[in-house]
Amino acid sequence: MRMFDPHIHMISRTTADYEAMAAAGIVAVIEPAFWVGQPRTHVGTFEDYFNTLLGWERFRASQFGIRHFCTIALNPKEANNPKVAPGVMDLLPRFLQKDGVVAVGEIGYDDMTPEEERYFAAQLELAKQLELPALIHTPHRDKKRGTERSLALVREIGIAEERVLVDHNTEETLPLVLATGCWAGHSIYPHTKMDEARMVALVQRYGSERILINSAADWGVSDPLKVPKTVDAMRAAGIAEADIERIVWHNPVAFFGQSGQLDLEELAAEPAIDQRQLHEGNSVLRGQQAKVTAAREPGR
Ligand SMILES: [Zn+2]
Repeated sequence: MRMFDPHIHMISRTTADYEAMAAAGIVAVIEPAFWVGQPRTHVGTFEDYFNTLLGWERFRASQFGIRHFCTIALNPKEANNPKVAPGVMDLLPRFLQKDGVVAVGEIGYDDMTPEEERYFAAQLELAKQLELPALIHTPHRDKKRGTERSLALVREIGIAEERVLVDHNTEETLPLVLATGCWAGHSIYPHTKMDEARMVALVQRYGSERILINSAADWGVSDPLKVPKTVDAMRAAGIAEADIERIVWHNPVAFFGQSGQLDLEELAAEPAIDQRQLHEGNSVLRGQQAKVTAAREPGR
């Protein structure tokens, strides 16, 4: 089964992760722009970060047969830093129109400060103007209230709910999201947030419509194989293949396809791998034999 991991921070993962993900059936990923574990002190580092997501990271994924897309935004945490926030906002219109950008994100609340709200609203407005989907991060602390306030802001700004994906849901927040027209993401983590067994129970209860799962793997304790592992758990629990495929393929393709940035025919074909290629003169190889495989049409 082809799988999409629609939320993973590959910039902090290794080539061994890319290999394991491709072997497990992951053919496409979305890398949301987020914070990097420590506060940034210059707007210029955001610019280079966005360029890395669009350039080197996209190239690196391609070298392992994985298609890489990204979302661009000022993240909720750094919305609180007046040294960088206004300057990052100025960068966004230019970056959001680049090839491979499938949404405005991650935006939302972290601590639910007035500054976070201001930049969250401004970026929802930007998504609405540019007719791009929006990816909303929900806070780890006080998640229910953060989700309620996020959904209220979506209504207030008037962005189409079918263009909004609310992420990191739990048993408590999923019914709130499904009661709107928004889509619902779930981050399957090794110890917190959501795990495979709880996700199986949610799918058994709510079905597969507008439901997505992701690994949200980053530089912290996380697992880039959580999408295939959850597929295994859903299959073992007797969830229909059509529902599983909808969750890990058709739903992310339908949601992010609203950006006009996903070429469905290209996504359906097995990607060509050519490790002889270079990105600005650089290769992922360290002297070993380059792997080269031709693209194959589906079913051939
Ligand atoms: Zn994230």
